[in-house]
Amino acid sequence: MTVSDKYLDDLLREIVSIRADGHCEFPGCNITDCDPHHWFSKRTNLAIKYDYFCAINLCSSHHTGSLLSAHLSPVAFRQAIIRAGVRTEEWAQEVHRRASQIITVDEQTFRQEWKEKLLAELKRLGARGWRK
Ligand SMILES: [Zn+2]
Repeated sequence: MTVSDKYLDDLLREIVSIRADGHCEFPGCNITDCDPHHWFSKRTNLAIKYDYFCAINLCSSHHTGSLLSAHLSPVAFRQAIIRAGVRTEEWAQEVHRRASQIITVDEQTFRQEWKEKLLAELKRLGARGWRK
């Protein structure tokens, strides 16, 4: 059975939200309508596409909007996140390392592996209603 990109995106979104207590992770922001932002790399990078470790929960203003956002002001955004202790420089370096990995399996096998990892993480987090 094929594992769709949307299915994995939904699992990623749920994990990233739970880990952020449901709100935007930008310092001082409590907005709960958020999307997972892929730190460092665009979501087209398969190596970290579904890796919740590499994502940060952001409201639309801090994700792509006119505030100090991850997409419009990436350098200042990175400084603000690290200065506030939301993430560390070591974390950013680990994301960079993971993003540089070469994927050696076919995409469907890769998705199946991420499905298992994401479901295991949701189960570990104790999420209710986690999918089969
Ligand atoms: Zn925000």
